[in-house]
Amino acid sequence: MTERAQHDPDSPKKPSPTQVAGSPLLREARQHLVRAHEPVLATVRASRICTRSQKSAAWVRHIEIDVSGTPLEGSWVSGQSFGVIPPGQDPNGNPHKLRLYSIASPTKGETGDGTILATTTKRLIDEGWDNHELFLGVCSNYLCDLDEGAPITITGPVGKRFVLPEDPSKHDYLFISTGTGIAPFRGMLGDLSELGMPSKATLITGAPYESDILYFEEFMALRDRFGDRFTYLPTISRHSTPAQTDPMYVQDRMKLESERLLPLLKSERTLIYICGVAGMELGIIQALAGILDPVSLGQYVLVDPSIPSDPEGWERTMIPRKLKPTKRLMLEVY
Ligand SMILES: Cc1cc2nc3c(=O)[nH]c(=O)nc-3n(C[C@H](O)[C@H](O)[C@H](O)COP(=O)(O)OP(=O)(O)OC[C@H]3O[C@@H](n4cnc5c(N)ncnc54)[C@H](O)[C@@H]3O)c2cc1C
Repeated sequence: MTERAQHDPDSPKKPSPTQVAGSPLLREARQHLVRAHEPVLATVRASRICTRSQKSAAWVRHIEIDVSGTPLEGSWVSGQSFGVIPPGQDPNGNPHKLRLYSIASPTKGETGDGTILATTTKRLIDEGWDNHELFLGVCSNYLCDLDEGAPITITGPVGKRFVLPEDPSKHDYLFISTGTGIAPFRGMLGDLSELGMPSKATLITGAPYESDILYFEEFMALRDRFGDRFTYLPTISRHSTPAQTDPMYVQDRMKLESERLLPLLKSERTLIYICGVAGMELGIIQALAGILDPVSLGQYVLVDPSIPSDPEGWERTMIPRKLKPTKRLMLEVY
């Protein structure tokens, strides 16, 4: 299996995004320095729970991997992914396939020297679809079980479009994530922070419960450090909180904050990045259509005249051909 087989962030089959005013020149991102047929061994350096509360019903871990001495050292940029090959075989006796994980670290890694990259991994735990047996995702549980010092087989980096612009100061940012989709934004915000936050950045990040918010303390520290240049909007979908009177999804949060978001969204400087659970992009595009006039919406999405004019009639299958992201909207959903 190639890095492309699991998911296709840069698929040649997809229509290439349209150039509009304010389109960014993206950073150069090198890809596939380590391929699946020749993976490298790295070492787990640390592993810790990164939900807000240890009592969260979701198990998500921040796992740091030492890639020193491999071609991955110093070679990724924030927003890219890397591959993990779990040991063992699938039920058909074939070696387990590679899974991709977003790099949660800034471009210079966890220690500033490009040797340590991190992932934000959620254990996939389910009940069997055909029986009532516990179903444990192979790679996510393998990764989350690894202790400090354990060897791990990896590939990468992967992805060239879900990255910051070459000159980050030329743009402002709206980052929208659900669940582990926060990972690339932790890295990108780390890069922006290192530059002294030269632009305005807003992060809307969704979690089902308050206990599940990822990296809460880190983002609060960024907010305290950068004031109105970094807006942090954690958004809870299954209960209300003192800061949020009604449960809501990230797209509802956009509508609720439309007055605050409008100048950002209308500006030619702004880039929108969306990462997380597949399907989230439709609600976000519909929310954008509700907030923006058609011309401003066209900065991010080109709406084909053949589809219903009412966004309520839009469907996910219309993305990317009938609802075509421009170069100012970056999507990474899985
Ligand atoms: C670009 C990209 C970036 C990603 N970044 C991250 C990240 O940062 N963090 C992260 O945690 N994940 C990330 N993922 C997802 C990750 O690659 C894996 O898909 C995920 O960890 C699940 O893999 P697994 O091996 O644990 O599960 P698998 O063993 O592969 O199981 C998942 C499969 O099992 C099926 N399944 C689920 N429940 C059941 C059930 N009850 N019965 C039968 N079958 C079932 C699902 O359809 C799915 O196909 C990313 C994916 C992509 C493509």
